[in-house]
Amino acid sequence: MPHRDVVLLLGAPGAGKGTQARFLAGALGVPHVASGDLLREHRRLATPLGQVARAYMDRGDLVPDSLVIDMVVERLDHPDADRGVLLDGFPRTRAQAEALEQRLQTIGTNVRAALYLDVPQAILIDRLADYWMCPGCQATYHARFARPQLEGTCDACGVTLFQRADDQREVVENRVAVYLRDTLPVVEYYGQLRKLCRVDGDQDIHVVRAELCVGLGGVMAGQRRARWHLFITYAGAPGGAIGRTLCGKLVPDDGERRFGTLSAFNGAPCRACRHKLHPHRNRSLERTTG
Ligand code: ADP
Ligand code: ADP
Ligand code: ZN
Repeated sequence: MPHRDVVLLLGAPGAGKGTQARFLAGALGVPHVASGDLLREHRRLATPLGQVARAYMDRGDLVPDSLVIDMVVERLDHPDADRGVLLDGFPRTRAQAEALEQRLQTIGTNVRAALYLDVPQAILIDRLADYWMCPGCQATYHARFARPQLEGTCDACGVTLFQRADDQREVVENRVAVYLRDTLPVVEYYGQLRKLCRVDGDQDIHVVRAELCVGLGGVMAGQRRARWHLFITYAGAPGGAIGRTLCGKLVPDDGERRFGTLSAFNGAPCRACRHKLHPHRNRSLERTTG
């Protein structure tokens, strides 16, 4: 049985899980599995699970634990999850967390890290509320982050924008409250297991990204040059390596490693690691993919 690298991404709706998940999954070299995406796929295919889940999702309630647990456990059996997985949106209740722990034990592994994006409630609500959508081309706009050129009108189609029910401020407030009620116990649970890494999610996207890397592995001195790398531990690293850096160098298990801080990295970063953190300079591009 190969050892799997199971990493969790926890956080309220709007905390930035989706924004960070693709980068993290790429850094770890494992698939990104989002329970919300799996449920939406079941709905689209109208499977028995999708048909049951629909009513819960439309009310903004959580889908019952037993259904979600079976769905995620089944996904973990796919061959692409052999070396591990980045789980996003699961576990969302303490019962789901306990079921995951049990399941991983039976296959001889466990959760390596639970990364928690911590964002104050008022900021979550600001991020999620005030979205507007174009009925023609489905483009989304935000009252502050991505304003249309002419208020209330789609830049591309010129038609009047509307607001989806679940983007309205009161509904968003309720979703966040429900999430915090059910999921803070999950955060506490991984704290007790000493797996929790809390990252302040109310910072620039690239700063959050760097801190998540530090939570995964740390900052490591280069071997020849006085530059620092972000170290990503990776259970699937071949040939006795204990992992690799963000820039892709394998790190042998030779006990000669020197670790530093994020400010050491920021002072003299490996260029390739830095490039992976900042693949493109245009931040407005990332803000529109929400
Ligand atoms: P989640 O998947 O946790 O619900 P998203 O990744 O979809 O959250 O992000 C929700 C919204 O917040 C998006 O509009 C996204 O662009 C924005 N966002 C994400 N991270 C940050 C950040 N660090 N600073 C400001 N806005 C952010
Ligand atoms: P959000 O962006 O609000 O965090 P998701 O895309 O993660 O939403 O999930 C959408 C909906 O799918 C949730 O409102 C909930 O009904 C259901 N869902 C997703 N993950 C879970 C889970 N782990 N347990 C129960 N229900 C879930
Ligand atoms: Zn590097």
